[in-house]
Amino acid sequence: MVSLKKQSHNRYQLIQRIVELSDSDSWREAKQEWCLVDVYRTQSLGECLCGHPIKEHCVLQNHENGNEAIVGSVCVKLYWFSVTLSFDVLELVG
Ligand SMILES: [Zn+2]
Repeated sequence: MVSLKKQSHNRYQLIQRIVELSDSDSWREAKQEWCLVDVYRTQSLGECLCGHPIKEHCVLQNHENGNEAIVGSVCVKLYWFSVTLSFDVLELVG
C-alpha cells in the first residue's frame, strides 16, 4: 500500500463522512442518496466535509434519512454533479 500524501482536498475523509451519514454502507450507493438542496456564499470561510476551507457552501440532503452535509463547490462537482449541473447557474439562484 502506497502511503497517502496529504492533500487539501481529502477524498477519503469526505467519502467516509458521507457514508457515515448515509443508510448505505458503500460509497457508490451512498452518494446516490444525496441531493443538492441549497447553495450559498459566505464572507467567512466554512469547511467542506473534506476539510478544505470553502466560501461556496453546497448543502446536500440525504433523502433516505434527512441528514444534511455541507461541501464546497469543488467537491460537489467532483462527486455529484459534474456532468448534469452547472454550478454557475446555481450560484445565481443562491
Ligand atoms: Zn471538499
